[in-house]
Amino acid sequence: MPTTHASAVRDLVEEHLNEVLADLDLLVSLETPSRRRDLLVAALPQIEAYLVRRLGEPTRRVQHDGGDLGDVLDLTWAGTDEGQVLSLAHYDTVWPEGTLASWPLTRDGDVLTGPGVLDMKVGVVQTVWMLLALRELGVPHPDLRLLLTADEEVGSRVGRPHLEQAAREALVTLITEPSAGGAVKTRRKGMVFADLTVHGVEAHAGLDPDAGASAVHELATLVPRLVELADRERQTTVNVGTISGGSGRNVVAGRATCEVDVRIQDPAEEERIVRALEALEATDHRCRLEVVVDRNRPPMNPTADTDRLLALVRAAGADLGVEVGDQPVGGASDGNFVAALGLPVLDGLGGIGAGPHARHEHILVSGLARQTALMAGVVEQLTQA
Ligand SMILES: [Zn+2]
Repeated sequence: MPTTHASAVRDLVEEHLNEVLADLDLLVSLETPSRRRDLLVAALPQIEAYLVRRLGEPTRRVQHDGGDLGDVLDLTWAGTDEGQVLSLAHYDTVWPEGTLASWPLTRDGDVLTGPGVLDMKVGVVQTVWMLLALRELGVPHPDLRLLLTADEEVGSRVGRPHLEQAAREALVTLITEPSAGGAVKTRRKGMVFADLTVHGVEAHAGLDPDAGASAVHELATLVPRLVELADRERQTTVNVGTISGGSGRNVVAGRATCEVDVRIQDPAEEERIVRALEALEATDHRCRLEVVVDRNRPPMNPTADTDRLLALVRAAGADLGVEVGDQPVGGASDGNFVAALGLPVLDGLGGIGAGPHARHEHILVSGLARQTALMAGVVEQLTQA
């Protein structure tokens, strides 16, 4: 006897594959770059109309103003059992307006490519079909709450308090961020960003070199000090991603900047890194160093619930005849915030594919039913506990 209805959900999604693909086409056709409030505000009612058309009117609806970014939409559909499960997704993408003109959603066999299809519009579609399948099959399930945020790709300043609150109220938070080749993600690195600006003193490089203090030279001495902050053993990496400065070959540079990306797995490393960054000083006292540190996301590490949740997703996988792995990744998601609160979260339940944030971004059509079924299998087991 299978422990879940996962295989029946998979069959149902396969039967409705054309509708599932049409749903994806609809969502991908809405261009939603993170920093374009105008486009996000225009897209959200269309996303909501789609959700209501498929799932009916939600029993609870809240929309939070995103200020200069997109709004957060918080919808709940009543289930048959107590409690609620949170599906957390973002509807912003990294793709600028106009990307679709040269890159519409295109299917070639099993590969479905398009901007934002993997990261993470497919996650919204999976959530919809999961609930439709549970209803259709008469499987008991808790309330489904879908929280759609609009600034995940730019740090979740707006989304964070809302998703943290929703996660506190949920039995479990399911995150339909891309799967790692069918595996879930229970370990993600955290990120600390730093922007360094050196203010030097400009001067003519030939006539008056001693009057100047080069911001470029100063920044060049800072870069190795930044790189040294890495700690392989603790899985802390440092990348100085961009560097720029100066105004001309013959000018002692008055200004230089760099952008730094630090990834951490060990939560204790965050403090060490932030303290070290804030303690940086220019070696040439005529230069002034400005450091802006952004504790972007804490690391995600397994919580007390992780083994239990892995067991649920593996039970659903067993009913599908697949083994579900657990893959640590360097990239962060909103799951980092949930895990850092010690709350139950299962991340990486979304599309199987490759190339998020890259021009070859795609999902495998064959993964749609599998991933939806895994989600459904997890959700139905929450009511059996
Ligand atoms: Zn994403």
